Amino acid sequence: SASLFASVDMAPRDPILGLNEQFQADPNPNKVNLGVGVYTDENGKLPLLACVKEAENVLAEIPKPRGYLPIDGIAAYDKAVQSLVFGADSEVLRAGRVVTVQALGGTGGLKVGADFLKRLNPSARVLISDPSWENHRALFESAGFDVGNYPYYDAAARGVAFEAMLGALNQAQAGTVIVLHACCHNPTGYDLTPAQWGQVIAVVQARGLVPFLDMAYQGFGEGIAEDGAVIQQFVASGLDFFVSTSFSKSFSLYGERVGALSVVCESKEEAARVLSQLKRVIRTNYSNPPTHGAQVVTTVLSTPALRAQWEQELANMRERIRSMRAALVDRLKAHGVATDLRFITRQKGMFSYSGLTPQQMERLRAEYGIYGVSTGRICVAALNTHNIDYVAKAMAAIMR
Ligand code: PLP
Repeated sequence: SASLFASVDMAPRDPILGLNEQFQADPNPNKVNLGVGVYTDENGKLPLLACVKEAENVLAEIPKPRGYLPIDGIAAYDKAVQSLVFGADSEVLRAGRVVTVQALGGTGGLKVGADFLKRLNPSARVLISDPSWENHRALFESAGFDVGNYPYYDAAARGVAFEAMLGALNQAQAGTVIVLHACCHNPTGYDLTPAQWGQVIAVVQARGLVPFLDMAYQGFGEGIAEDGAVIQQFVASGLDFFVSTSFSKSFSLYGERVGALSVVCESKEEAARVLSQLKRVIRTNYSNPPTHGAQVVTTVLSTPALRAQWEQELANMRERIRSMRAALVDRLKAHGVATDLRFITRQKGMFSYSGLTPQQMERLRAEYGIYGVSTGRICVAALNTHNIDYVAKAMAAIMR
């Protein structure tokens, strides 16, 4: 008789994690992995931040038994996330209008929000940017939504197709969930200006849309407050909205799965009802979140010296990425690329949408062992002074 799993198809490989596997297997000694969105330091190593190490030392000195956390996570963690995202003296926090739950990374925050939204409005559609983080579509589809795109990238202008974006939002039905990248847009690196955000907010308000801000890179663009400024704009508009937070990159805590979901509600009483439903979603998915990563982040954020150290380490990561952007432009020019490359330094965050075609990206892989995403996305945060010459030379050879 046929086995139980005889009809199971092979699922496609995750495009980016699949690239990683290919990279691991490549024997080329010069190979460079610019595919996955991970920050590596000057020596190509994943950093363990000094503030994290110190927080772990502090925690290890008073070892605690590991009971279950509350469904919504560590209360002090949720509070620390709120101050970071909304500002310590935010009026919506004082009014008790914000609900925050600990989540399994930014992905977990998105999924808890998606499951809650599906129960709230089963027939709503979701719109994500074109292009977007490769998991947005799959995640909202797996929550049961029909997912469409709004235009975002203008290849010719090397920037945001803002009028087209606004036009699409203006056509969206009331109740449509609009997933927005709060800063450091993945994959393009192009963000909206504060004035453009103001226009988006006006349309969202006029059309009765539901904003869901994905903030996976706070501090990687211009700074913690600067990158969070869009949240202040949404708060000032009086809209209800969702924010997912990730500390994977900003604390280099990828594997600890530390993130959160915050929901801004109209009143404290409404917030209590929303929290009860978020807890239901969490309870039926994974019951309650893990302890360690959230404790580390709470310790760092709530200990002034560690907090200052974190802000410095985050600034160092941000500045190193910026210097690699500038260096890449310089070296591509030095290797004879004549086109205007300043767009690389205008982009924010870990990535550069290089404008290279899938064929060019394939050549980089096959001929040089340089792994980027076939869309042309390269991770600038994986460049360093040891590999940048090799990468620039190869890119220049392929662009000429
Ligand atoms: N959202 C965006 C835009 C991302 O780029 C990422 C990670 O790459 C995430 C969410 C997921 O973050 P996490 O690893 O914390 O789940």
